Amino acid sequence: MQKKIKPTNRYESNNFLKREKDLFYSLSDKNPNQIKTKDFKNALLKSGLKSNDNRLYDLFRKLDSSENEIYFKDFIKIISSSELLVEKALRGELALPDFSDFSKSVDEMYDDVIKNKSGELASYIPPLAKVDPNQFGISIVTIDGQIYQRGDCKVDFSLQSMCKPFNYCLALEKFGLELVHKHVGQEPSGRQFNDLTLLTRSLEGKSNKKLTRIPFNPMINAGAIMTAGLINSEDTYEKRLNFIKEQYGKLIGWSANGKFESKFPRFNKDVAREENFTGYNNLAIGYLLMATGNLPGKKNKLKKDKNTSKNEFDFYIEPTVTDALKLYFSVCSLEMTATEVAMAAATLANNGVCPVTQSRVFNQKTVRDCLPILQSSGMYDASGAFFQEVGLPAKSGVGGGVFFVVPQLMGICIFSPRLDEQGNSVRGIEMAKRITSKYLVHIFDGAMTNADRVDPRIPISKWRANSCGEAIWAASIGDIRTLERLASEQKDLGIGNSDMRTPLHLAAAEGQLEVVQFLLEQGVKLVPDRWGGYGYFDAKNNNHKKILKVLDKLNIKFLKPKHLVEEPNGETDEVAKYDDELMVSELLFAAAGNDITRIRQLIAKGIPVHAGNFDSRTALHLAAAEGNLETVKLLINYKHPINVRDRWNSTPSDEAKREKRLAVYNFLKTLKPKNKS
Ligand code: GLU
Repeated sequence: MQKKIKPTNRYESNNFLKREKDLFYSLSDKNPNQIKTKDFKNALLKSGLKSNDNRLYDLFRKLDSSENEIYFKDFIKIISSSELLVEKALRGELALPDFSDFSKSVDEMYDDVIKNKSGELASYIPPLAKVDPNQFGISIVTIDGQIYQRGDCKVDFSLQSMCKPFNYCLALEKFGLELVHKHVGQEPSGRQFNDLTLLTRSLEGKSNKKLTRIPFNPMINAGAIMTAGLINSEDTYEKRLNFIKEQYGKLIGWSANGKFESKFPRFNKDVAREENFTGYNNLAIGYLLMATGNLPGKKNKLKKDKNTSKNEFDFYIEPTVTDALKLYFSVCSLEMTATEVAMAAATLANNGVCPVTQSRVFNQKTVRDCLPILQSSGMYDASGAFFQEVGLPAKSGVGGGVFFVVPQLMGICIFSPRLDEQGNSVRGIEMAKRITSKYLVHIFDGAMTNADRVDPRIPISKWRANSCGEAIWAASIGDIRTLERLASEQKDLGIGNSDMRTPLHLAAAEGQLEVVQFLLEQGVKLVPDRWGGYGYFDAKNNNHKKILKVLDKLNIKFLKPKHLVEEPNGETDEVAKYDDELMVSELLFAAAGNDITRIRQLIAKGIPVHAGNFDSRTALHLAAAEGNLETVKLLINYKHPINVRDRWNSTPSDEAKREKRLAVYNFLKTLKPKNKS
């Protein structure tokens, strides 16, 4: 008889991976053995992911059919098909880790920018003059598929020039950089989008240095008509347009069986016809390109006139020109929503892979070749100034849409049809400016080290922990070289941690005389910590006489910091040690800021809730001192011991008392064993 081999399933063995347990635990409430289905759903949605995301569709359906509570075994089964994505979301590791915070800021910007009613609708294409000028929508899609939507982000609008970069990518994919640029240049034109001037180039490889003329770049009309001419020029109009629609569909996350909201691109024939009737300038460009001999297409001229009259001939209209223009007008007349275009921009930000379908649409090289052209020429004749200020590759269209690519982070699309003199959406530009003035997303922000702007790629508590962590650490161990570097980088050496303990406090406490001197020479201001101490008593308590002498010379009357210890001989619980000091500091910042989401994310990353820092301060100390009852309760649910003591022997309840946080103080008192009170 054959021996039965028991299948090895790591979930059914007792060897659960700690990672999954931590994820599950981070979602739990009072009972660590179960989580609420709705809490799990909310955590995913709050991270910015959507329930119609193709990658999460099955998971959300499973959650819909689950009981109100889920046990670990079920959790493992539910997440199995998208475990890494779930892990990233629950640990705060998606592209925008503080999604709610980020959304709130963008909401505020939107509420301000909507008041701006300046600008005019494009009127040279009649249907565009008829749209509602007040419309305003914004959508942001990250490379991980987090989606922000606000206002008219589901309204169809005319792509117009926003199609140009995508067509350029299609041409690059088909012919490669070298061949495409035999037909169109890579240079900013510095002229209006529909200018007739061409760039003069010498033809390489010809001994007599023949000259030719090509459009400046693929983002102005001449260049875009040329690239339209390049795309599948041997095919019929219908096939070509369909091919382009299909490719755009992939860019925006549409797929035949997909669940995501993107629809197959829509063609507005009326807009295309009107462009045909009124676009004389473009017709002229078409013939101009034909005259250069660089417009590809079939050139089979009619052999004979149909008209037999002696005195007349059939006027010939060059099909190469009309084919290119017809396709160009048609693609300009495709319609999409801001969310769909933001998804396309996110596909570019994600090096050519669509975030919600995970399918590659363009090669990495294609995307990298396209973005610099957007940077130099995407915003009409305001491209230079726009790039200097906003610092992002972008493309706008006279339909009122504009998109921005933040490489490796997100795509942003704004639709608001009133345009400025250059043809860019007024509100679109204003939103872009506000986003870069708040967030470090300008692609040259790497050159700024002392920016008081926020890096949206980093959770806010981590950002805070980072900004003080290095200096405090260096000060406490006497690493002058690091402090010198931070000073020349113009980092603020007086910045404190969640208790306002600064490098100077720590240097004084640890007897780092040289550091204290260095900091004072640098002009670092003495600031009080949470208890009103300036480092003087840190030195005194630890008997660092030389430091006291230096501080005495400052002629400041240092008051004794006020710590409070109700029961000096009461019970003492152990503070957990955790190697990753930065993460501890972050946990403390999150507790001080009542940031429940981040605390849960840190738990999901495996940190013990009662981890302490160099002053033996814990999350509970901070939450108590700040009066954050919600966080206090959360920590207690996670079994944070209550009698942990800091460097000065204070417990969280002492901290609540000292700061007069009555609700927290009373709550903590109810947890003390009855017989002890
Ligand atoms: N189809 C429009 C034109 O060629 C596009 C203009 C634009 O959005 O820049 O005039």
